[in-house]
Amino acid sequence: MSHDFIYTANPARIVFGPGSLAKVADEIRQLGGSRALVLSTPFQREDAERLNHELGELGAGVFFEAAMHTPVAVTEQAMAAYAEVGADCVVALGGGSTIGLGKAIAYRNGAPQVVVATTYAGSEVTPILGQTEEGVKTTVKDASILPEVVIYDANLTLGLPVGMSVTSGLNAMAHAVEGLYAKDRNPITALMALEGIRGLKEALPVIVERPDDVAARSNALYGSWLCGTVLGTVGMALHHKLCHTLGGSFDLPHAETHAIMLPHTASYNARAAADVLAPAAELFGGELGSGLYDFAKSLGAPLALKELGMAESDLDRAADLAVKNPYWNPQPVQRDAVRELLQRAWSGARPE
Ligand code: NAD
Repeated sequence: MSHDFIYTANPARIVFGPGSLAKVADEIRQLGGSRALVLSTPFQREDAERLNHELGELGAGVFFEAAMHTPVAVTEQAMAAYAEVGADCVVALGGGSTIGLGKAIAYRNGAPQVVVATTYAGSEVTPILGQTEEGVKTTVKDASILPEVVIYDANLTLGLPVGMSVTSGLNAMAHAVEGLYAKDRNPITALMALEGIRGLKEALPVIVERPDDVAARSNALYGSWLCGTVLGTVGMALHHKLCHTLGGSFDLPHAETHAIMLPHTASYNARAAADVLAPAAELFGGELGSGLYDFAKSLGAPLALKELGMAESDLDRAADLAVKNPYWNPQPVQRDAVRELLQRAWSGARPE
């Protein structure tokens, strides 16, 4: 590691521990809030309504229409609900979709945010918002987007289905792997990335066996917090560019796509970033790409883009899009090499 670096920490208050959902009211008050609009997806509506009820007079109501990729039309409905109930802050209860809605509201009106994160995607600790309007996804980065308080309560993740836990955990690991070789990496993000990968590597096999193991669930949340923090702090590379392309232009699901692509992108960068990836590679038996592939396979994760319904005939267009305006990457981004990577990921071949 070079001794020249710049490290800017994102200010966030992290409240961690099983049972910490009970602290939401205190956290709202400490932010100066008195009426919170509780946000969720339709799937987590009951949990959101229970929380709103338990908040008593601090709960202003529930908006439960959060959706994947933060459609602007939904944000506008939520803004109207926020005004209608006279809210002065938001509580987002859920994964990246719900958190995205809270961020979109905060970006527009400065609402303070308390996030109760229930997946491993990591959005809760980034100042980044991706939103979609008429099928076009745009990304903004702004200090107002970063949630002020994040609550991690493993009890709320006990019901996260095993398949989603696995893909969401691998999604988190992808932030850390790319953080290790980020152009603007620094010693602190490297520590966080390795510790995050270690936590998730330990936790996910236990969760597959015993989804209600609170210690393993806590370990996974701890790992995902660290990986998410890396995502929010340094720049991402080829892996995230490919996943954004596949999600944005081919409508592939977020966490599953990350899970499938990670072994292949790690392998693509293995030689160019060998020194910084070495400690992570060691955790997976020496070779990061094939080690991650075997790990994902042992967890029952999807391994091939074709399993997600992607057509082989779309691979050429995906490669063209992925090399257009490429993100910085340790290994030069070459169209033929990326096309080959995509072919392997599509068929589910083990990286060599
Ligand atoms: P998600 O939020 O879309 O959740 C998927 C489904 O699982 C939803 O129905 C949700 O209600 C449900 N769910 C969530 N937690 C649950 C739990 N504990 N138990 C049972 N069901 C639960 O999924 P995600 O992968 O967390 O988020 C994906 C979205 O987040 C994408 O749109 C992605 O682009 C975005 N994202 C953004 C950032 C960022 O920094 N801006 C980072 C990561 C992801």
